[in-house]
Amino acid sequence: MTNSTPTSWDEVRAAFQKIWGYEDFRPPQGEIIRSLLAKQDALIIMPTGGGKSICFQLPALLQTGLTLVVSPLVALMENQVQELRERNLTAELLHSELSSYQRRQILKALEQQKLKLLYLSPETLLSKPVWERLCQPQLTINGLILDEAHCLVQWGETFRPAYRRIGAVRPALLKLKPPGTKIVLAAFTATADPVAQKIIQETLQLQHPAVFRINPYRSNLNLAVQIVWTPRGRKQKLLKFIQQKQQTTGLVYVRTRRDSENLAMWLQQMGYATASYHAGLTAEERRAIESDWLGGKIPFVICTSAFGMGINKPDVRWVVHFHAPLLLSEYVQEIGRAGRDGKPAQALTLISEPTGWLDPEDKQRQKFFAQKARSLQLQALQLVKKLPKTGEVDAIARQFPDGAIALSLLHSCGQLHWLDPFHYIIVAGSKNQSIIELQTAKQINRYFTTKQCRWQFLLHAFGFAALDPNWHCGHCDNCQQKANG
Ligand SMILES: [Zn+2]
Repeated sequence: MTNSTPTSWDEVRAAFQKIWGYEDFRPPQGEIIRSLLAKQDALIIMPTGGGKSICFQLPALLQTGLTLVVSPLVALMENQVQELRERNLTAELLHSELSSYQRRQILKALEQQKLKLLYLSPETLLSKPVWERLCQPQLTINGLILDEAHCLVQWGETFRPAYRRIGAVRPALLKLKPPGTKIVLAAFTATADPVAQKIIQETLQLQHPAVFRINPYRSNLNLAVQIVWTPRGRKQKLLKFIQQKQQTTGLVYVRTRRDSENLAMWLQQMGYATASYHAGLTAEERRAIESDWLGGKIPFVICTSAFGMGINKPDVRWVVHFHAPLLLSEYVQEIGRAGRDGKPAQALTLISEPTGWLDPEDKQRQKFFAQKARSLQLQALQLVKKLPKTGEVDAIARQFPDGAIALSLLHSCGQLHWLDPFHYIIVAGSKNQSIIELQTAKQINRYFTTKQCRWQFLLHAFGFAALDPNWHCGHCDNCQQKANG
């Protein structure tokens, strides 16, 4: 069975103009679309707001057959499907919050090959009713798209272990499809340093992917890091900053739910209209805060990293990291929410004084997260001794509460192969993941204490080292300090 694809590039462009109303593609949209239509795997690192989703939606709509879009959050799927429906395009989504009637309808449409775009979470993709249908030989699947692929790196080993099994999806499907079938695999992410890129590529088993990387440099985004000496000093610095910003839109990032609640309460008591936002809130509560913030009812939100993915507000003027993130990629992602409209914006990070004598807060927090990760790994290693050398993931998960996590940790250490998305075999391996984690944690500390241009540091870290080594942004705190003598 062959897939009918448009015969010429003019047709592709005409469809693009007709659906989205733009004159022509913005680079590298055209190249990505060509790559996907030619069934060439791709890894795309592109900031949000760069017209990313069009790159996989258009090829999906132009072909006969199905494209699967794996996305981490229901809200993200809903946004994209809603946008498509407003353009009279059909796309469906499958997730656990749907009624059983709705699920049945979509599964039926899937079976009857009526869908071109289906959005689902990795867990839903690997659920029995969906997987059985995808395996039907006559069902044409053109592509598997992983949106927000950084989730695989950040969450794949811990609370979303299903991410670690996606690499086994394509080989398993191809075994059941007519000979000569091609399924293209593409991963999209807003940020990924070289280590994360490698993890994505290996875990998904991308085949000679075309790599598209957009330089994350933004000339309107001014970076600064300030040292605080006491927990109280940290709050005062934030307060002063917010006072200067008056009613402009911003975000304050903290690392834990409790910090988010405490800080929001403190600011509310002082009369600021703000809210605490974290993954512990219900979907409804989160939607309400998002819409208050988007509509300007509350100028800023005190949030954990749970806030932001898929939320697009162009006029965010500032981002404060009240507590620093643990990874440089998290940092870049979070500051990237400011200044999307191209107008000046500020990103300020508050860090404890580096010795940790006077203000050990940051060190304690890093230690806490490192210990948590380590104890999770230790638990998994304990469990590994009890696991059979080969087995089936659902059976393991029923027998051991953390079984699925243990399997994905083993996978990330190179000690486990997925025979298909459900069956594993434990093999001898050597790679030690925790060393990589440690290195990346050190990298962000180097960024905070560097005297060199901050943008230069970031661009190097993200693999854009081809720049002139003397280049500097001229607008970060370090550059300005040098300019002021
Ligand atoms: Zn600079």
